[in-house]
Amino acid sequence: MEQDTIAAIATALNHSGISIVRISGEKALEVAGRIFFNQKREKILKQPKSHTVHYGYIYDGQDLIDEVLVVYMKAPRSYTAEDVVEVDCHGGLKVTERVLQTVLKNGARLAEPGEFTKRAFLNGRIDLTEAEAVMDLIQSKNEFSMKNSLNQMQGSIRKKIEQVRARLLHEIAYLEAALDDPEHYELVGYGEQLDQKLDCFLQEGKKILKNSKNGALLKDGICTVIVGKPNVGKSSILNLLVGKERAIVTEIEGTTRDILEEQVVLHDIVLRIIDTAGIRETEDRVEKIGVERSKKSVEEAQLVLFVLDWSKPLTKEDREIFKLIQNQKKKAVILLNKTDLETEHPLKEEEVRNEFKFPVLSFSAKEEQGTEELAAYIRDAFFEGDLHTEEEIYLTNLRQQQLVEEAISSMELVKQSIAQGMPEDFYTIDLTRAYEALGRMIGEEVDDDVVDEIFRAFCMGK
Ligand code: GDP
Repeated sequence: MEQDTIAAIATALNHSGISIVRISGEKALEVAGRIFFNQKREKILKQPKSHTVHYGYIYDGQDLIDEVLVVYMKAPRSYTAEDVVEVDCHGGLKVTERVLQTVLKNGARLAEPGEFTKRAFLNGRIDLTEAEAVMDLIQSKNEFSMKNSLNQMQGSIRKKIEQVRARLLHEIAYLEAALDDPEHYELVGYGEQLDQKLDCFLQEGKKILKNSKNGALLKDGICTVIVGKPNVGKSSILNLLVGKERAIVTEIEGTTRDILEEQVVLHDIVLRIIDTAGIRETEDRVEKIGVERSKKSVEEAQLVLFVLDWSKPLTKEDREIFKLIQNQKKKAVILLNKTDLETEHPLKEEEVRNEFKFPVLSFSAKEEQGTEELAAYIRDAFFEGDLHTEEEIYLTNLRQQQLVEEAISSMELVKQSIAQGMPEDFYTIDLTRAYEALGRMIGEEVDDDVVDEIFRAFCMGK
């Protein structure tokens, strides 16, 4: 396939120490050779060995632009599987842009977002699941997600899919052969055998789908809010949860209200605690969580932590907050906070549970009591089966999940045909459908527009 040579800034455009301009394509070396010189202005990229680093200067005509290191990676041993030259320049935005412009003037075209990775895919170096893993890796916000993407980048999903596809293809080929040449191929009893094999695939496929639901929650975190009337201990609880692990504060762009999100790892569970009402600002008591505010944040949440003060009787405000959680049918757990306080008439767990039909956990932000029980509750409420983070396959991407579902339903149709005693040529149609759906997962038999859509979601320079 004839491909033009592309270039882009591959690093983030901020005040980094160095930036990289990446050039990929047949003319990568030629383009770099035109602008890269030593101190005496002699060309130094004549016939470099692959995977070598060269020191020199970038010139735009007579203008010295930057002092750089140039890395050369010969096809196919590069990210894109094409000839790649990377120019490590000084980090400033202006400098990096000038280097890129010079590269573009000398025979390269600006790469589209994701185009480097798309080329790696089109050149057969990686499959679609591996390409998607690259994007996931870049966007990973926690350890689980990072490990999972790395695993997927090494081809964990591709290998599994290829195995199942090979076995399906074997069955399809056998059936075709038997239908063509009944004298030499036996079909008596074949249906039962196939049925058993399909059971194995189905079991595995369903397990992967179940894992994937866990995987998505583990990767993205469970969107959580902490509600309750003033002074019950919401910000203390938030601080406790955040303080347990390093917190990552991320600003969600594109929302009208600025919602702050704290990512919290509670034992092995990731929570994204949305701090809509700024419950960490302790000085502004009046402004603190009121019923109105709770309402908004509850709408956003998958999980509500409803905080009550153990040492005080329930009030109308507690009941109102309860109603709004209940009306929105949210998963909620009551944290009966301040259980460290000595008090004559504490709230009784039993009574609270009877009145507010949510699970109740006794908690003390001050004594740091109750986080383990909270994690256990969340595990039961949100995750299916055991939570293994190693070695399991998680599809964290909806496209992949839908294709596995498609393959599963085609295989179920084959089982139906077997059960109903349909002629064997019925089996091949649905077996082929399953085979094709799995092929689309790894990028075989996918339409160009699907490929384009996947890579468009990438960032520039990747
Ligand atoms: P918020 O208004 O719901 O955010 O409540 P704060 O977190 O600001 O807490 C209100 C007051 O209760 C503060 O003085 C906290 O120190 C105190 N507090 C919070 N949690 C506990 C707890 O578990 N035990 C005790 N004894 N005091 C607590």
